[in-house]
Amino acid sequence: MATRLDGRLLAQEIEQRLAVVVAERRERAGRPPGLAVLRVGDDPASGVYVANKEKACARVGIRSFLTHLEAGTPAEEVLTAIRQLNADPCVDGILLQLPLPAGLCEGPLLAAIDPDKDADGLHTLNLGRLLKGEPGPRSCTPAGVMALLACSGVELRGKRAVVVGRSILVGQPMALMLQAADATVSVAHSRTSDLAALTRQADVLVVAAGRPRMIGAEHVKPGAVVVDVGIHRLDPDPSAGPQARAKLCGDVRFEEVDPIASAITPVPGGVGPMTVTLLLVNTVTSWCQRSGLDQPLADLLP
Ligand code: NDP
Repeated sequence: MATRLDGRLLAQEIEQRLAVVVAERRERAGRPPGLAVLRVGDDPASGVYVANKEKACARVGIRSFLTHLEAGTPAEEVLTAIRQLNADPCVDGILLQLPLPAGLCEGPLLAAIDPDKDADGLHTLNLGRLLKGEPGPRSCTPAGVMALLACSGVELRGKRAVVVGRSILVGQPMALMLQAADATVSVAHSRTSDLAALTRQADVLVVAAGRPRMIGAEHVKPGAVVVDVGIHRLDPDPSAGPQARAKLCGDVRFEEVDPIASAITPVPGGVGPMTVTLLLVNTVTSWCQRSGLDQPLADLLP
């Protein structure tokens, strides 16, 4: 059985550290850190994610500001809301909750966020900073994976890493971060031929394909470290009766890979909690910088 890379536990530890950082600096800063969450429309999953982020903020002493606009809000009005948050001195981080309702294009809206308040690290400037190895807010999910690997003692230097998926949200920044940590990185996507032959070369395999249970034993080299970014809700089996609850699964067939890998992230409880925690790290980092205070969290940002 592989070692569990327990994102839930590490997220709790980092939250405790963040709470101390905030408590020790709040008086000098003259205000708490602030995270603004901008939600447009009523996507139900987004409602749950936003509530989780607000709760996480409260646990570490970050003030959260929620702006909830109707699904039919014109782009110009969303832009106005973003500009107000950019100008608000109490806001250190801004998060535009995705997905947006049909008809709203995320590109220009993400681009309108002040790059130094870009809590999700998805602004073009911040992706460029990552590419050049310059400091800046990092994309939360891949940065969370890096923190989990580092804190679990997974050696990356000189190792062969394969990332399955090339999205701007996960796959691309993940590959850049692994490369910056001196891994030799390959990126696979939907047109990759013989995926299993490539993934079997990986010492560290990160799967972010958004395909439930696509990676099995045939894709994994014995002893590899496997990180499953995917998260999917499986409807309950109707034969299990009315009390049956939806289950979560990842992109990896956990029960097949667990006996082969040396370490593996569970779903849930692996990458997901780390993503929320890195959002907090980006916000507190921005608060320290904007308040002219020392920045004690650099080790958590790749
Ligand atoms: P996208 O759909 O944007 O990207 C998926 C990527 O996987 C694409 O590059 C696609 O290739 C590639 N892909 C799809 N099918 C295959 C295949 N059969 N073989 C190889 N590559 C394939 O998804 P995201 O990157 O946004 O998210 C990926 C997963 O991670 C999702 O399940 C999402 O829910 C989850 N996620 C989890 C988070 C967390 O906190 N745990 C946070 C963010 C995402 P191509 O480019 O050719 O289309």
